[in-house]
Amino acid sequence: MSNTDQSPKTEDQNRAPLRVAIISPEAVPFAKVGGLADVSGALPKALHAEGVDSFLILPLYDQIDRSLLSETFIEDLEVPWRGRQPRASVWKSDALKAPTYLIDAPHYFSRGKIYADNDDFERFAFFCRAAVALLKRLENPPDVLHCNDWPCGFAAVEMRARRRQEEYFANTKILFSIHNIAYQGFFNPTDLWWLDLSAYTDDFMLKGAASALKAGIIASDAVSTVSPRYAREIQTSEQGYGLDWLMRARSDRLAGITNGVDYDVWNPETDPHIAANFSADDLTGKRECKLDLLRRFGLPEEPERPIIAIISRLVGQKGYDLIRQAASGILDTGAFFIALGAGAKEYEDFLQSWHDAAPHRVGIYKGFAGEPLAHQIEAGADLFLMPSLYEPCGLNQMYSMRYGTVPVVRATGGLDDTIQQFDNATNEGNGFKFGPYAVLPMLEKIREGLYFYKQREAWKTIQRNGMTTDNSWSAAAKKYIQLYEEIPSPN
Ligand code: ADP
Repeated sequence: MSNTDQSPKTEDQNRAPLRVAIISPEAVPFAKVGGLADVSGALPKALHAEGVDSFLILPLYDQIDRSLLSETFIEDLEVPWRGRQPRASVWKSDALKAPTYLIDAPHYFSRGKIYADNDDFERFAFFCRAAVALLKRLENPPDVLHCNDWPCGFAAVEMRARRRQEEYFANTKILFSIHNIAYQGFFNPTDLWWLDLSAYTDDFMLKGAASALKAGIIASDAVSTVSPRYAREIQTSEQGYGLDWLMRARSDRLAGITNGVDYDVWNPETDPHIAANFSADDLTGKRECKLDLLRRFGLPEEPERPIIAIISRLVGQKGYDLIRQAASGILDTGAFFIALGAGAKEYEDFLQSWHDAAPHRVGIYKGFAGEPLAHQIEAGADLFLMPSLYEPCGLNQMYSMRYGTVPVVRATGGLDDTIQQFDNATNEGNGFKFGPYAVLPMLEKIREGLYFYKQREAWKTIQRNGMTTDNSWSAAAKKYIQLYEEIPSPN
């Protein structure tokens, strides 16, 4: 349009951009425990790129790198709390393309860890109340408050109550995203009174306790989860963890939107953490990454021998019971096995004893390694194993595909939605997929994968099919925008 053009603006051009506040307990690059952090870091950026006025609110944990912060944004945020008005401050960061506001309250967030204290419900209830207090101090209210997982359930409850009373929030819609329905944020219901939430006791009560997840879902105008199949699964008694009835009751407002991959971060062509860059057109660098990975784990440099890898939290959900039972069968295939994981002691002990029994074949790293090692494993491995009991979305199978590492997954949740079984007749498919949660079907798919690993041309086809699969965030961001817009106005 020339600058002499006087034509009136269309209604669309006049409309202020959609304003979305995303609230989350963790986000990359600030603080990470699992996939929620990847999603909470990528979504505000992806929305911003689509023209949304998005911003993120997080707790300022002590382990967050202070060089990511740009300025103190509010020095004296008053948060109504236990009949007092303790002060918190708010920092701002420009580390993402969308602004991030971080709530600084050292009493609650300087614990050296993100979760796992007995008073987590209190810490996140405070975070949520502070987040809503912060929203009130901004120039404009959000059109949508987007809450993520149980720690943000309190924010949904608080927003629903306040928008009934305060003109400022009257038009703010509430979306609740479930990243894992098994984490329900339980606490003693007798604590509801001093949290000033006893008016909503019925909304909180689940299995004889108070659940921040349940109350958050009930208080929200719409609910989403992180893959279409998981949206169906959580409506069943097997996978609903006691909330399937609520999911069925809300099924008309329950969307399944598959997470994307942040290709700024996970891209073998530009990745600064890996030994050599490579692409779908030229995979030569992947061999160097494989040798580098073998060296890092102290394994013999035998690049022809396939590497099966896994990166996950060490919890029952991730299928470690199957791996433990299948350990000798996996090694009988002749492959290396490399595991990165932190979590339950029983699985850490299993990994240690497996490594001790086969130190030249099994490489392990116990603990949360940070980003570089996860990237090096994705780049250097040949097969990536995800035998999850359930998996709301799963990100590592999508990272693996991008790095030419072929996923072997159980057909559940987002794994089923994102992986297509390879078909040698049509050359279609980007991985290997088994159904029953059992050792033999898993071993069979591993063997099938390894069979094709030896067929060089077929293997390259599977790798390329995965590397060219588009799992970018922009498609997911568009679906979120549509969902935000479809939520009916609260008034
Ligand atoms: P979940 O959210 O259930 O943990 P996802 O597959 O969605 O599972 O995401 C897991 C994320 O956490 C990935 O980015 C993965 O690389 C990372 N991750 C998991 N465990 C570790 C670990 N021990 N060290 C480094 N990164 C890890």
